[in-house]
Amino acid sequence: MSRLLKENYQKLEAYIPGEQPKDGEYIKLNTNESPFPPSPRVLDALKREDIENLRLYSDPTMSALREKLAQLYDVKSENIYLSNGSDDILNFVFMGFSQNGAVFPDITYGFYSVFSELHGVDYKEIPLTEDFRVNYKDYINKDKLIVIANPNAPTGDCLGVWEIEEIVMNNPDNLVVIDEAYIDFGGESCYPLTKKYDNLLVVRTFSKSRCMAGARLGYAIGPKGIIEDLEKLKYSTNPYNINRLTATLGEATVESEDYYLKTSEEIIRVREYTAKKLIESGFEVLPSKANFLFARSNKISGEKLYQELKARHILVRHFTNPKIEMFNRITIGTQEQMDILLGAIEEILNGGTK
Ligand code: PMP
Repeated sequence: MSRLLKENYQKLEAYIPGEQPKDGEYIKLNTNESPFPPSPRVLDALKREDIENLRLYSDPTMSALREKLAQLYDVKSENIYLSNGSDDILNFVFMGFSQNGAVFPDITYGFYSVFSELHGVDYKEIPLTEDFRVNYKDYINKDKLIVIANPNAPTGDCLGVWEIEEIVMNNPDNLVVIDEAYIDFGGESCYPLTKKYDNLLVVRTFSKSRCMAGARLGYAIGPKGIIEDLEKLKYSTNPYNINRLTATLGEATVESEDYYLKTSEEIIRVREYTAKKLIESGFEVLPSKANFLFARSNKISGEKLYQELKARHILVRHFTNPKIEMFNRITIGTQEQMDILLGAIEEILNGGTK
């Protein structure tokens, strides 16, 4: 750190992204990416002309992609906000809607506390229940910005739409943000509620079920006023925050719903298969509606399992927070990748070390 950074950022602990190893081939089950490529339509979407056109700025209104998403979700394009990954939207949420402070679960997406610190937000973390679930009753009448990942990460549990409606109804003067990064793997989206309430924003990403983490594209569905507020923050930081290539690929993605339904179904199938096998090996596996499993075994510590898997070139995500240090978060890959993982776990539990 230099001497010149503003004092309020000096103690900031930045978010630590999952490892992106460069020392050879790994089975990467640590950052909840899709094991599948984008749809064939997306693979063919870019032409030489698109690259030539990179000399021009992208459309800051993203009108074509907004319109396509609006049609898909039966809302108006004024109800859609697009950004450079959903992290970008969450940053604006904490920047712009936290005047009364913020609340979110104590075990959830690690970026919420980082954004709170970044923007000097007074925040409170609400403990999960003993069985690692979000209890909607803990979020009634909070009088603060509420941010909930649904399904939650890294646990995978998912609130029902009626539970979210209770939270939204009972916090009428604050924004409720539902981060639906993992909603396509078995949960029910609450976006239809955005037509009924002016204080609900649903945040989505193309990074998980849409197989495009590297393109950096996220969107939000919400009431017109909130979308206008987000636009104001965007135009005050980086109006061209989505590049032309990503916008074109995003349009082709929205036109490929069938493909993504199929790949998401396959992930759900492989998730259930993997959970069953892990339970047979003595693991406790939390029920998951996401593209990952959160699992622990009383035969091996979370840290040791993570290290032993890494030595076998399989990466999973381990968190050092004492409340969850026994667990590992395992992204669902292909059937073949999960069989390799399960074989490696069996070997490790039988005493093999590397
Ligand atoms: N929300 C949650 C709950 C996540 O796990 C992630 C992925 N790390 C994100 C948001 C951010 O996704 P992206 O910025 O790639 O859209």
